[in-house]
Amino acid sequence: MGTEMKCFARKAGKDAVPLVLVTATGFEDWKAELPGAEQAWLDANDFKPRPGAALLVPALSGAPAYAVVAVEEDGTGESPDYWSLAAAYKALPKGRYALPADTPGPQATAAALGWALASYRFTRYKPSAKAEEKDGSILVLTQEVDRSFVENLARSMALARDLITTPASDMGPAELADTAKALAAEHKAKFKCVTGEALLKQGFPMIHAVGRASVRAPRLIDFTWGDAKAPKVTLIGKGVCFDSGGLDLKPAAGMMMMKKDMGGAAIVLGLARMIMASKLKVRLRVLIPAVENSVSGDAFRPLDVLDSRKGLTVEIGNTDAEGRLVLADALTLALEDEPDLMLDFATLTGAARVAVGTEISAFFSNSDALAADLEDGAEAMADPVWRLPLHKPYRRMLDSKVASLNNISNGPFGGAITAALFLEEFVTPASKDHDDGDDAPTAPEWAHFDIMAWNQRPRPGRPEGGEAMGLRAAYAAIRKRYG
Ligand SMILES: [Zn+2]
Repeated sequence: MGTEMKCFARKAGKDAVPLVLVTATGFEDWKAELPGAEQAWLDANDFKPRPGAALLVPALSGAPAYAVVAVEEDGTGESPDYWSLAAAYKALPKGRYALPADTPGPQATAAALGWALASYRFTRYKPSAKAEEKDGSILVLTQEVDRSFVENLARSMALARDLITTPASDMGPAELADTAKALAAEHKAKFKCVTGEALLKQGFPMIHAVGRASVRAPRLIDFTWGDAKAPKVTLIGKGVCFDSGGLDLKPAAGMMMMKKDMGGAAIVLGLARMIMASKLKVRLRVLIPAVENSVSGDAFRPLDVLDSRKGLTVEIGNTDAEGRLVLADALTLALEDEPDLMLDFATLTGAARVAVGTEISAFFSNSDALAADLEDGAEAMADPVWRLPLHKPYRRMLDSKVASLNNISNGPFGGAITAALFLEEFVTPASKDHDDGDDAPTAPEWAHFDIMAWNQRPRPGRPEGGEAMGLRAAYAAIRKRYG
């Protein structure tokens, strides 16, 4: 929106270097047609057509004639190639490069998105990174590129990345709320925030309990956008701005990365931004419980029993399983205006990382149709997800002798599943209001993402640091339904 991204240009100008895209199967034939000097140059540089490989080829004058970039075989079909151009961004010297005019639309758009994501830098504390970002390579786009989509998505992902990577000292509950408020204002969304003691008065006891030990007051961020009559999509993000583990304190290695424990909130804000900027025909609501799980004389304790907005009581088996507590109150509120679709994002369990690793977003859903849409979106947008089961028999692992349920499982296994089952308790509407039986309330379509929100290692277009995992898959699924 507004200004155009620095990494793109519309006009080639006379200094733009043409990109030549080759695939492994087409490579030898293409090469055989080249002048001998160019073949020799490719050989001398040991150029192999592995996707992402890129090489500048000079003219006889020594000036660049073109740059060859190897891309995936099927860069045109169902799953376009996002990352080969992103790799080229890094591999080629700084310059101005022109996408070939005959690149098919979906592939051109994917390539441009990869390029934009590769040009991202986290610049807040490092002037040299800022200069790098401002002064990087430029891709000259073709008419085929859906530029507003690419720029909106790249900016939405950058928002999420920036929020996650920003240290907790500058990204507490108040700063997260300020960011949400500014985003809401930009898109004329209705914003409110319930803060501190008001959480108790307005019925969010678990958000208050988790956040009350910090000098930075807990809060519930809540904004609504779009036509009130449109299908209701509600996004809920875990906003634990720093997670010390509470009294069941995390060891140093486990606490190290906990500035990213608001990754779910950041992804939800990025996704909301994308939905609003794209003007999808939905009534969007965003709910973010924003807290710091801290330690003080007022901290909640192991074996405390908390009230919840839903009325269930929750025994605390471990204060480090706090994300599900704050999410539960937000999910209960979300249900109150009967959304059609609910998605929550949370850096919830280490168990999800054990199951699928750090580069795949684990998700759970009570709807096969929604799960299929998310899987299709993941495939189309190169944003890998994997569905795990809401296996009901494991619910007994959350049984408590003194309360409706415990916040942790009584065993070491299946921790991502039991966390999801905990949330599901709060997604199923309370049946006590509907005694007649005929129209027993049903839960809305719901998916819960348990994500890393962090790139452990740099990959093309995905630098090390905060990452908006699942954002593209979720956006594609929502657009398919309500675009
Ligand atoms: Zn925790």
